[in-house]
Formats: sequence, structure tokens, C-alpha cells
Amino acid sequence: MLEQAEKAPFEPDTDNAGEGMRKTPVLASLPFRPTLNARLGVRMTNMTTQLIAARKGRITPEMEKAAISENVEPSFIRDGILSGSIALTKNNRRAIDGLAIGAGLRTKVNANIGSSGYDSDVANEMEKVDAALEAGADAIMDLSTGGDIPAIRKTVLERCPVPLGTVPLYQCAAENVAEGKHLLDLTAEDMFAAIENHGRDGVDFITVHCGVTLASVKRLKDEGRLLDIVSRGGAIHAKWMEYHGEENPLYAKYDRVVEIAREYDMTLSLGDGLRPGCLADATDRAQVQETIILGELAKRARKAGVQVMIEGPGHMPLDQIEANIKLQKRLCENAPFYVLGPLVTDIAPGYDHITSAIGGAIAASAGADFLCYVTPAEHLRLPTPADVREGVIAARIAAHAGDIAKGVKGARDRDDKMARARKALDWEAQFDLALDPKKARERRAETKPTDTDVCTMCASLCSIKTGVMAVDGAGKSL
Ligand code: SF4
Repeated sequence: MLEQAEKAPFEPDTDNAGEGMRKTPVLASLPFRPTLNARLGVRMTNMTTQLIAARKGRITPEMEKAAISENVEPSFIRDGILSGSIALTKNNRRAIDGLAIGAGLRTKVNANIGSSGYDSDVANEMEKVDAALEAGADAIMDLSTGGDIPAIRKTVLERCPVPLGTVPLYQCAAENVAEGKHLLDLTAEDMFAAIENHGRDGVDFITVHCGVTLASVKRLKDEGRLLDIVSRGGAIHAKWMEYHGEENPLYAKYDRVVEIAREYDMTLSLGDGLRPGCLADATDRAQVQETIILGELAKRARKAGVQVMIEGPGHMPLDQIEANIKLQKRLCENAPFYVLGPLVTDIAPGYDHITSAIGGAIAASAGADFLCYVTPAEHLRLPTPADVREGVIAARIAAHAGDIAKGVKGARDRDDKMARARKALDWEAQFDLALDPKKARERRAETKPTDTDVCTMCASLCSIKTGVMAVDGAGKSL
């Protein structure tokens, strides 16, 4: 069946949808989005995907746009998609540019938003979307589990010019509970229907926890863990399998998942449902077994023309991160690696945007391609828009630091410009170059130096001013 699909005729993608839209992760201005979803569904290149196009040697408009954005040749994007080291995530029903994620490209940042049973106000979620976009998120995941979940998703899709990811399982689980059923009354058909609905709505990538299987959960139980299962999807699948005495439907009927994804060119983000939730559980047998399974599933999806990313930990001691990235890349044949954190210590609630940024920088420098942000509210409560902003900035710092270390072309240019601006004591240029210009301006404005060339840190003993004179020989007095 899949072989047949592979041979489906490729329809040249001539749609210019998304032209002139956002070109950089930092948005110049808001608002700018409400017209986008009016174009949602304007075309549907049925049974075509970026991977199938690449297999036929084609360079699609989306590949061209990604190449411009990444400062690489379009053939580099196409060949990366072909080999599976790059995923260009964009549902074929959506009119956005799409986002290329993977080897040789800038490390991307995702921001999670989403309602819960505590707060399901759509307007609040839109505020978070705005905060994430203003802070420079490359993608957004709507992880809503409360209220009118389809309405929230559709509103986010209308408002959001960047790829949107979801976890379809959350919706069917939450809706079952809201209808008064037991969580475990969820059926396999509920799961596939949710995946189909999300694809039809235009979701660009979905997390599916296909690697949480009877075997991988048995291995987890046999070895024993300090914190068991912390992934919501992982926990639901594990309990469901135990209750029904059946294999995870998303693993047992994986071809069905792949076929739905292929219909919409929805990237499969193969979820790490058994990711370690504390340092003590990192790199254990269950985590590694799940990664092995995900590698096998990634290969099957790619064979069918479906793009894939692999999700990764989690909580992890700093010295294990590089080995984990290399192991994932080896086992999953260089599929883009999408990591949550990793959080390098368990004891900093309130500061987990920092613990994850430390781990994220190490992960990115070792080859991770996509960082899922963590906010200061992690482990404590639902994030606010302010938390979202802090989380995105922290993850962008980590991604950028990683890009410099792994030698992404041009990654350090902005740092060099900043150094020149500092030497010139050009404060406006420094603000413009800052990852968070708003905060930089606010901090400087809080205390006013007498000499406006300098700041109140060293005041008249400004070492940059004195140092320039000492090295360049300019001036005789301070
Ligand atoms: S006063 Fe000190 S901190 Fe401020 S710009 Fe000069 S050297 Fe830098």
C-alpha cells in the first residue's frame, strides 16, 4: 500500500502562499496574522510531500524559501530532506513558509502553549502565542487539554505564521474525561480520528508516542525507575496498554499513522514517552529501547514519504548529553533531534528555563536541531505570557550558543557586531543586536550615568573607554 503511494504522481507546487510573510524568527511587528487562515485550505496537494518531491529531484517553493532563510543552497535543503537529516515541516493545507529543521541549519526553538482543566480561556492562549512570536519562537505547540480544544487549535492556526505542532492524544483523552468517561475508555479509533482531525485542520507536526510499547514499558518496570513515567502521552499509553492488555495502537497500526501524516505532509515527531523525568533515570534501558524503536519507525515513515523528527530527553546530567545526542543520531539515521531541555538539575523549580538552557546549549552544540523551551513555571503551574517570553528567550540563547559551537555558517556574525558596538559605546546598536532589546533598554534606563557614553557599572572607570584609548592611542584624558 505504501509502495503504491510512493509512486503517486507528484503535482508541482506552484502556490506562492506565504510569499512575503515572516522571514526571520524575530517578528518585526505585530499584529500581522489574521488574514492567514482565510487562505487555509486553498490547496491540497494530495498524496505529495516534501520528501516525495525531494525523491523525484524536485526543489519546491518551500525548499527555496528555507534555503534563503538558512543561507544555504536549495539543493542542500532538498538533499537533507531526502536523506532524512532535515524535516521541512508544513502541512500541505497551510499557507505558511514552513520551517526546515535539521543538520547544517540554525537550531530552532519551539514554545508550548495550551489550556488545561484549570484555565481554558482562548484569549489567554492567544496572548501566549503573541508572547512566543514576539520573543522569536520558530514554532509553537498547542498542548491544550481543557475547554474547547478544537476551537483553540483553529484560532492558533489562524493567528500563527509559524509551524504548529500538537499532541492529538491529549485532545481525545481530555474530551473523553470531559464527557464523563474514564480516561482508559479511549479507543484506538479515537486516537486515529484525532490524528486525522489535526491533519485536516492544518497542523504541521504531531507528537505521537509510538515507541511506548508493551516491550519498552516492561523494560522500564524490570529495571525500575525513581520517577517512572513523566510524559503525559507516555503515561496514558502505558496505562491504556496495561488496562486493555493490548499493544499501543499507534505502534501496532503504525502504517495507519503514517498514511494520515502523508495525506497532509504532517511531520511525525516521534515522541519520547519514556523520557527520563529526573537525573537518576537518565539514559536507562527504557529510554534507550524507546530510541531504538523510534529509529526503526522513522525508517518506515521515510520509506513511505513521510518526514520525521525524534524527540528526546528530558532530565539529564550534563556529562551524558553529548553521548545521548550521538546515540540518537546513530540509531535514528541522523533524523532531526527535538529535545525538551535537557534539564541538567532537578532542584531549581522556578528557574528551569535556566537549567534547560544550559542543557539545550550543550545539546545543540552536540547536534540537537530543535529545542523545546522550558519556562520558569515548569513543574509548578501553567505558564503565563510573561513565562512564555522568558522561556523562549532562554531557549534562543541556548540555540544560538550551540550554533556558534557547532559552526553553523554565520552564527557568530551578530556577536562580532555586538563586540564592535560595545567598543564604540554605541548603545542603540547594542540594543538592536540584543536577543531581547526590550529588556536591555529597560535595564540601562533604570540607572542613569553622568557620562552617557558609559553605564553605571564602572561609571568613570569604564574599562572599554579606557582600554580603547590605551590600545588605539586615542585621546590623552578620560
Ligand atoms: S562602564 Fe563598565 S560595564 Fe559599562 S560599558 Fe563601560 S566597561 Fe562596560
